[in-house]
Amino acid sequence: MGKHEAHKRIHDHTLANEDSVLTEERHNSNWLAEKVISFSKRRGDNLTRRQNAAILRYRTDSIFNLSKADAHRTDEEVLATYKILFDDLFFFGSLFPKCKTFLTYPSGRKKLLHGYTNCDEEFKLKWEFPFLQKHLEAEITVCRSNEKRRRERLRNYLGTLLHEMIHAFLGIWGCRYKGCYNTWQRQGVRGHGHAWQDMAAAVEIAAADRDLLGLELDLGRLKNLAVDIVYEKRGLPLSEELEKWDMRREDVARICNEVEKQSLVTKLFGYR
Ligand SMILES: [Zn+2]
Ligand SMILES: [Zn+2]
Repeated sequence: MGKHEAHKRIHDHTLANEDSVLTEERHNSNWLAEKVISFSKRRGDNLTRRQNAAILRYRTDSIFNLSKADAHRTDEEVLATYKILFDDLFFFGSLFPKCKTFLTYPSGRKKLLHGYTNCDEEFKLKWEFPFLQKHLEAEITVCRSNEKRRRERLRNYLGTLLHEMIHAFLGIWGCRYKGCYNTWQRQGVRGHGHAWQDMAAAVEIAAADRDLLGLELDLGRLKNLAVDIVYEKRGLPLSEELEKWDMRREDVARICNEVEKQSLVTKLFGYR
């Protein structure tokens, strides 16, 4: 790890109107979270051009329809289309084409992990040297589930996808310098620190908003918080954090109990 470089900030106007304005590993995770949150709250006239175009596609193209009637669209096609939608709505279009998505059957240990923890995805960063230039890329793997009901199955995949896209976004653009990275206020030990939780709450609420997508997704926010509390000595959330994340203290305690009772697999591999 080299010398720490000053964090870059970008004006809202630039983020809203220009492409490719972020720099790999050069932004404070909290600043990135702040921008994602504020853009996720835009509605009506305040939507960016990119967001507007995305919503228009969402409202007119049947590929976004999760019902049985559109079962001729493969899960891969739907996932790929939603990835671009989420990217345009929440991540300034900054993840395309840096972020690849795969839908696969889990094997080996991952099968075990899947069976025990409902953890159905993994994420990794890949380094490439095409022109002796460092390029960060994210590969998101969403594990196939046996859920027969199309809407339920796709909703699970989309929750996982959005969860992982937040990791990809922070992983690619966030400063990875030690003190800037793994503190709880930022990305935390397993990547679900405040920056992740803040963004996850905001995009989950925005996706559910009928004025935006009207799509209820579960990003696994509670479960991941509980894993951090039980296995990583993360402190219990403060009242203002619970409020910000739209969580109830008793739910956090209940999920912590469930996590504690689960097999060691959870401890070893965790939720991603
Ligand atoms: Zn830094
Ligand atoms: Zn995660």
